[in-house]
Amino acid sequence: MTMILKVDAVEPNVSILQRAAKVIKEGGVVAFPTETVYGLGADCFNVVGVLKIFKVKNRPPDNPLIVHICELQQLYELVEQDTKIAEKVIEKFWPGPVTLIFKKSAKVPKEVTGGLETIAVRMPSHPVARLLIKLSGTPIAAPSANLSGRPSPTKAEHVVEDLYGLIDVIIDAGETPLGLESSIIDFSKDRPILLRPGPATIEELKQVIPDLEVPEFLLMLEKQPSRPLSPGMTYRHYSPNKPLILVYNEEQLDEVFAKYPNSVIICPEEYSHKFKNRRILVLGRLSEPFTIAQNLYNVLRSVDNLPVSAAIVLAMEPKGILFSVMNRLKKAASEVVE
Ligand code: AMP
Ligand code: MG
Repeated sequence: MTMILKVDAVEPNVSILQRAAKVIKEGGVVAFPTETVYGLGADCFNVVGVLKIFKVKNRPPDNPLIVHICELQQLYELVEQDTKIAEKVIEKFWPGPVTLIFKKSAKVPKEVTGGLETIAVRMPSHPVARLLIKLSGTPIAAPSANLSGRPSPTKAEHVVEDLYGLIDVIIDAGETPLGLESSIIDFSKDRPILLRPGPATIEELKQVIPDLEVPEFLLMLEKQPSRPLSPGMTYRHYSPNKPLILVYNEEQLDEVFAKYPNSVIICPEEYSHKFKNRRILVLGRLSEPFTIAQNLYNVLRSVDNLPVSAAIVLAMEPKGILFSVMNRLKKAASEVVE
């Protein structure tokens, strides 16, 4: 049985969240909203709870989890490394959508980190996530609350679609404000390196981490680096069940339409006039690119509920947050047309 608990996103009811915290403390799993996407959480020190996360998501055991904290003191019990090198980024982005990787302390079970000697930590800003962590009295290990490979959930309804009946609690506080998973920076190596672009743009990150390395593969069309830098990179991600064709060159569109006659086109509102006679899913507005990030996964999920056999998505200029959106689309695509 899955219990659904509705709470206000800004001022969540303490006694309702206490029920969810009790489940976490007893080794259960709870889906909860963060400012990025919904997470599926367990007490990071409870191996039984952590293993449930992998089981219900069907997540490969070598794909590590992000551990969520609500105060800095919790970082020091999770890592065994001087975190001073990350001081500025912590000051600017925590609480918020930036995950940092450090060498892990012996206290963290290896199941959490997929066997790695490093640990990913984030302090979310969403009031529900913060209060849940506080009431649980422990850092919460949580990947996105979707079945492995599916688009991340940005609404409680998406969690219901994937995990109802498989998990103990779903906390419903409406839509997640950012809609895109956190930026991930690895501070465990000689030089800080961006592993996953997210809501914090590269330009913003570089202001506090001038020597941030942005690996070549993130800048290229290729779907994967030749050697994965982090385990999650090797898996197809964020995908609807139907074919998703990512088109860079608009001149190729007629050919793509001919190949997939019964398809829907996914594009920003500004382009929609070009496709008057076609079925369209509007992503958001290029003039307000955060709306595109916010709608992305809801749109990708809705493809599976439409009477179409494929979706065609137009590439967007990878600037600012749209760089991160394009990163997800590249991973989600079953075919890329250049
Ligand atoms: P999710 O929360 O579902 O977006 O998954 C978390 C992602 O964080 C994983 O897929 C990894 O790519 C990344 N991650 C977590 N821990 C580490 C780590 N120790 N080293 C490298 N990447 C990590
Ligand atoms: Mg995920």
